[in-house]
Amino acid sequence: MVSPICANLEAVRTAVEQFCVRSKRKPEEITLIGVSKTFPADAIREAVQCGLTDVGESRVQEVLPKLEELRDLPVRWHFIGHLQRNKVRHVVGRFWLIHSVDSLRLAEELQKECEKKWVEQDILIEVNCSGEESKFGIMPEKTEELVRQVANLNRIHVKGLMTIGKLTENEQEIRQGFRLLRQLFEHIRGLDIAGVEMRYLSMGMSDDFHLAIEEGSNMIRIGRKIFGDRR
Ligand SMILES: *Cc1c(COP(=O)(O)O)cnc(C)c1O
Repeated sequence: MVSPICANLEAVRTAVEQFCVRSKRKPEEITLIGVSKTFPADAIREAVQCGLTDVGESRVQEVLPKLEELRDLPVRWHFIGHLQRNKVRHVVGRFWLIHSVDSLRLAEELQKECEKKWVEQDILIEVNCSGEESKFGIMPEKTEELVRQVANLNRIHVKGLMTIGKLTENEQEIRQGFRLLRQLFEHIRGLDIAGVEMRYLSMGMSDDFHLAIEEGSNMIRIGRKIFGDRR
């Protein structure tokens, strides 16, 4: 019998392919991150056995024991949650990509920790494109300035932008946020800032990845549609 996680993963892959066809894009240019927060290490192992290559987690305390238990797994770990400065030492060097850098102070803390550990860290800048007060992320109009400042930190490498879609049933409003991030991405790419690479556009979750793909996302973060509902 095919495990539910494998079947879910397959269904998400098929959906991604369909949305790509519809928007004349190539499925292989879209990185699928399985978001495993609240699920145990065994569930992650299972997903990886079914071909998942990228795993996303959002809470530091929760992910540390999982990282320990899954040290042998050949996956790229993504830190996608809000990162507090006092937790930076736990994540630096352990994650392939940190998606949630939204202030210079946080970037400076990351830089300091990288110097201490003698490592470098790839990051995305998280942008609040929905205008919701409850959301983390730098304001769109401040993004270019933050990217320029982070570019001066020699151990932190900006690889793109991330956003969380607006929490609404209104597809137009969700789409507007994604479109804004895409425009910022293209704008900053065009500036050709030394040390900055606009490569990853991380947007789209279980309920809105179809819209994100149509709006140009190349990195989607899928939790519930792969692992099931969270308790
Ligand atoms: C939880 C989470 C996801 C995945 O959400 P689903 O709706 O379960 O797909 C994606 N991105 C971030 C930042 C998250 O915290």
